[in-house]
Amino acid sequence: MSFDTSTLYVVAAMITAMLGAMLVFFGRQENISALKWWGSAYLIGSGSVALWTIAGTRLGGPMSLALTTIAFLSCGMVWNASRVFHGRKANWPGVVLGAIFWLATMTTLLPSEAALRLTIGATIVAVYAALTAGELWNERRRSMQRRWPTVAVPVMHGCVLMLPILLGDLLRAHDENFAHSIWVTVFAVELVLYAIGTVFVIFMLVSDRTVAMHRNAASTDPLTGLFNRRGFSEACARVIEREAKAGRPVSVMIFDIDHFKGINDRWGHPAGDEILKLFATVIASNLRFSDLSGRIGGEEFAALLSCSLEEGVLVAERIREAFEASDIVVDDCKVDTTVSIGVAGGPAGTELEVLLAAADTVLYQAKRNGRNRVEAAEEMPLSLEHWRRKSAGLSASERQKPVSV
Ligand code: GH3
Ligand code: MG
Ligand code: MG
Repeated sequence: MSFDTSTLYVVAAMITAMLGAMLVFFGRQENISALKWWGSAYLIGSGSVALWTIAGTRLGGPMSLALTTIAFLSCGMVWNASRVFHGRKANWPGVVLGAIFWLATMTTLLPSEAALRLTIGATIVAVYAALTAGELWNERRRSMQRRWPTVAVPVMHGCVLMLPILLGDLLRAHDENFAHSIWVTVFAVELVLYAIGTVFVIFMLVSDRTVAMHRNAASTDPLTGLFNRRGFSEACARVIEREAKAGRPVSVMIFDIDHFKGINDRWGHPAGDEILKLFATVIASNLRFSDLSGRIGGEEFAALLSCSLEEGVLVAERIREAFEASDIVVDDCKVDTTVSIGVAGGPAGTELEVLLAAADTVLYQAKRNGRNRVEAAEEMPLSLEHWRRKSAGLSASERQKPVSV
């Protein structure tokens, strides 16, 4: 069976153009710049390859050179799309460098040096493919596991392109009949596989990123950027399990800003929001990177630290002092920023709910004892049930106490 090479290239270009149009459409719809870059590269590249294949020798030297240069430009654009995909700026010099290099090669090398021209052309494309693979590899390391196609597709492309050059004599790449050899057919087929493969890869990355964004939004508090209650609980469950395996204790603290309603009433809700944000930064700057913190209610925050209760109390005291010293001024008046903190610690493997319930009880004590203070749960409950029973017993006996006036 024999293939008509020109037909193969035109089919390859048509498929690439359709994929390009799809990428541009999707990129516009979802407003993803990388997809617009990628789609435009496919449209420009396929257009130039198709024209060059159909019109071929009839075009004349300069026109033919312009079309091949545009094809190299599209390789640069594909690489740039992979950069833009993870938030880097468009690199214009990098986009056009390959095309300029190709122009320089074609204008300085004689037509008789066709083999060298071919080698340089294929090397430019392979370099862009390697750079694209490098960009996608970084992306993979950041957010994904088992994403081998993101790298395998561009690497395969580069290898297929370089093969006739690396095995030059064996494949007779320098032969006049090379243009009609099986390798040229292989390139056309590979071109289609590459175009489809990269679209598959980019949609996989887009879908992963969308899932990660939604998951992130569902577990983050938009005002402070800390975890919300749900995100905090999920992250704590993982840390508690890890620390339990290592046999290390954990401690939990709950923070409740004092007289926050009064701050809102006096200076307004926006000023209250600013104080919530300020408190979030105070927590974050006084905790270690590995500690967890979240906003679990209106003006209530919580943190989980991999340390003993004694160490936890020291950290809580540091946060209390830092917040009190924050000296925030609204309408030329200094706002009193104080916080009450309840800290509870437990042996390895103590459930989060148990720790939170214990910390909450001592936080209540801190409020009763005058606010702007840290209280620690001296006794650690063995189970949530035990703690609830004990708390219920306590409040029942408290209710029986005569109220002192
Ligand atoms: P205490 O010292 O006993 O904790 O007194 P408090 O005034 O801080 O306690 P309370 O629970 O009565 O008031 C909490 C207030 O927090 C009530 C609510 O309007 C305010 N709040 C809750 N969420 C937000 C928010 O997102 N932004 C702002 N500005 N205020 C909020
Ligand atoms: Mg409160
Ligand atoms: Mg409060």
